[in-house]
Amino acid sequence: LTDRLTGAFKNLRSKGKLTESDIDGTIREIRRALLDADVSLDVVRSFTARVRERALGAEVSEALNPAQQVVKIVNEELTNILGAGVDRPLNFAKNPPTVIMLAGLQGAGKTTLAGKLGYWLKDSGHTPLLVACDLQRPNAVTQLQVVGERADVPVFAPEPGVQTASSDVVSPGQATGDPVKVARESIEYAKRKLYDVVIIDTAGRLGVDEELMKQARDIRDAVNPNEVLFVIDAMIGQDAVNTAKAFDEGVDFTGVVLSKLDGDTRGGAALSVASVTGKPILFASTGEGLKDFEVFHPDRMASRILDMGDVLTLIEQAQRQFDEKQAREAMTKMSEGEFGLDDFIEQLEQVRKLGSMKKLLGMIPGMAQYRQQIDALDEREIDRTEAIIYSMTPEERRNPSIINGSRRARIAYGCGRTVTDVNNLLDRFEQAAKMMKRMSSGARGIPGVPGYG
Ligand code: GDP
Ligand code: MG
Repeated sequence: LTDRLTGAFKNLRSKGKLTESDIDGTIREIRRALLDADVSLDVVRSFTARVRERALGAEVSEALNPAQQVVKIVNEELTNILGAGVDRPLNFAKNPPTVIMLAGLQGAGKTTLAGKLGYWLKDSGHTPLLVACDLQRPNAVTQLQVVGERADVPVFAPEPGVQTASSDVVSPGQATGDPVKVARESIEYAKRKLYDVVIIDTAGRLGVDEELMKQARDIRDAVNPNEVLFVIDAMIGQDAVNTAKAFDEGVDFTGVVLSKLDGDTRGGAALSVASVTGKPILFASTGEGLKDFEVFHPDRMASRILDMGDVLTLIEQAQRQFDEKQAREAMTKMSEGEFGLDDFIEQLEQVRKLGSMKKLLGMIPGMAQYRQQIDALDEREIDRTEAIIYSMTPEERRNPSIINGSRRARIAYGCGRTVTDVNNLLDRFEQAAKMMKRMSSGARGIPGVPGYG
């Protein structure tokens, strides 16, 4: 594996521009990754077309191979669509209370989110109030009250126990009432009681329908919210586009919250929604607990959708730390068959510079299948390897083929290792040299690694 990595980073090409054949293989991988992540087909099409266009004619980077370079472009584009690379903060009102309205299909996670948002805001010094405007479903009010209690955030609801300005009091379990009126009254109540953020939970339906949309719109118009957050189940997959479009037209939401981003889902819905509506994603809900909630980070989501581990971090590190000059020299030597153990040691140093070996290997996509070898890999292995090489004469390092039996014994003695250790190293070096030679003569990539093979 060490050898493979060393080889991978030596994978320089001396062409001027990325070519179509460089790009298309990687684009195919990207398309598959996006579809696997349940990004809508239309979005995948337009996205890959844009990436392809940008990649074509991009200058060849000295430090990255073409596949890596395309992945880098993909990531930049993805991050852009998901939020221009910056986290979008909540919009607070100049004059409190800030009003946040939640909209979305039934089961999307609105009520759960109300509790999380309340808890999170309270934790950052706010005094939030939850408002029960889902008067559609029996128990919806009770559910919000349970959530509020857990988060230790008060709930405004049309029922006895919470003081409202309203006279038509409804008991939980048989909520009817007028959600628009409740919403309006809750704002007055918040002003009076000095709550600085009002979170309005609304009703959803199983599918998009006009009555639901009208109610949401009426609530919105009654309270003039600072944010209308569209909550969408990240597992909804291909339906995400249509639902998002409908809510965008219906209530013109200001931001998106992706819920149920826990578990296996790769969250392709994020890309679908963001690219179809152009609206920012603010938060992610990642479980049923109060604290399973986070500010949305476009860059992290991009790599999650691509399922490339932290390959992008790896690429950045490689770019930053790769010593291009040294690499070019090594390249020349390789192609002339003069790559020796002294060059090998320099490459080991490059790998070491990239950080802990295990972490590094964990970052490479497709490496999961090598988990056992990775776990068995010892960081000190590099130290041992170097010790053996340092125990050789300069001539032996330059030209390992002269290392016969008696030289092996001497080297082993010199570094305190066994002859078997020395043999193993030389075998590995020979394989690596072969592979590097193959790479430098055209073939490229890490064999067996998707997108890199
Ligand atoms: P609403 O109809 O939009 O108000 O949705 P709810 O808040 O009632 O959530 C519907 C179901 O999804 C409930 O069983 C929640 O516990 C669950 N749920 C909500 N958010 C999440 C989440 O982020 N992760 C998981 N795993 N479940 C969630
Ligand atoms: Mg609800």
